[in-house]
Amino acid sequence: MLDDISSTPQGFTAEAPRVPSPAPLIDPFQRAISYLRISVTDRCDLRCAYCMSEHMEFLPKRDLLTLEELDRLCGVFIARGVRKLRITGGEPLVRRDIMHLFRRLSRHLESGALEELTLTTNGTQLTRYADELASLGVRRINVSLDTLDPQKFRAITRRGDLPVVLDGIAAARAAGMKVKINAVALRDVNADEIPDMIAWAHGLGMDLTLIEVMPLGEIEADRTDQFLPLSVARQRLESRYTLTPLPDRTGGPARYVRVEETGGKLGFITPLTHNFCESCNRVRLTCTGQLYLCLGQEDSADLRAVLRASPDDAVLAAAVVEAITRKPKGHDFVIERQRKAAVPRHMSVTGG
Ligand code: SAM
Ligand code: SF4
Repeated sequence: MLDDISSTPQGFTAEAPRVPSPAPLIDPFQRAISYLRISVTDRCDLRCAYCMSEHMEFLPKRDLLTLEELDRLCGVFIARGVRKLRITGGEPLVRRDIMHLFRRLSRHLESGALEELTLTTNGTQLTRYADELASLGVRRINVSLDTLDPQKFRAITRRGDLPVVLDGIAAARAAGMKVKINAVALRDVNADEIPDMIAWAHGLGMDLTLIEVMPLGEIEADRTDQFLPLSVARQRLESRYTLTPLPDRTGGPARYVRVEETGGKLGFITPLTHNFCESCNRVRLTCTGQLYLCLGQEDSADLRAVLRASPDDAVLAAAVVEAITRKPKGHDFVIERQRKAAVPRHMSVTGG
């Protein structure tokens, strides 16, 4: 059983002790890998139509890494210079006892070895967990929300209740966490709603990032019908707002502008119309311990096998280093009618 660590939010301020950073993991294209995203479950309480099929087959629980194994693996990455962890899924907050993992990982924030521990969530469980997450040093979270219309929300998620998510967002903000909203741009579903979402998010001091739908995993719909190129969405917004490009670079795929009329930040994640693989600083761990070097490529390393074969962290670290030498230059997503998904894994498996 993972032991509890009681901490106060004050333990995670800028005064956190500095520990010397280990040499970073460097891939063959000289990119330093400082960011690990961890999918802690492929399960979810929603079934967003662009993400999953209605009748998903989930992995048997025995295939999942235990929370202890996840903690051990994260520790190895941190010892090799990873500075930022994002917990994701599936829906991370539906994994049983998930707060044990956050409690364990928060020790790396306390020591200063880890700069940021964060979370991507659909928001349905936040009223329950927001206070504890904040107390463990989670300062910023991403909440995925594609519409502010309750009926549309029900239709997109096939089962969700919008007020539950809005209450969750309110709870996270009340707990002192900075919330960023992520919305997938869906051509005939929420394209017209983007200005309303900007007004709402920016009105509450939250950044909003728009995401192009990606061809990951088989679903019922044809994603060409869902796909809205963000170049088109941006053009439409430019007839209404003044968008000033911002220099912010997180090593991630988002590019940001300031909306002068609202004063808020708007991000664009455009893997289809423009990719930013050259600055990619991340790798992704699935809930079964597969390390994917790129969201859009198949190559992976089976860290679960290594982890279960040896209690020696040095062996695990060597497997991580070897995997990083295989990180590809980038992905080559295309969305074409009648074409199978570019990557067979759903986003919920690799971790969005
Ligand atoms: N359940 C959590 C959530 O929805 O935030 C975390 C996992 S979810 C897979 C992470 C992000 O991936 C969400 O913002 C979701 O909208 C996005 N996503 C899922 N499938 C996608 C797809 N095929 N293309 C683009 N974004 C996708
Ligand atoms: Fe669940 Fe997130 Fe996928 Fe929606 S996008 S089905 S909330 S994992």
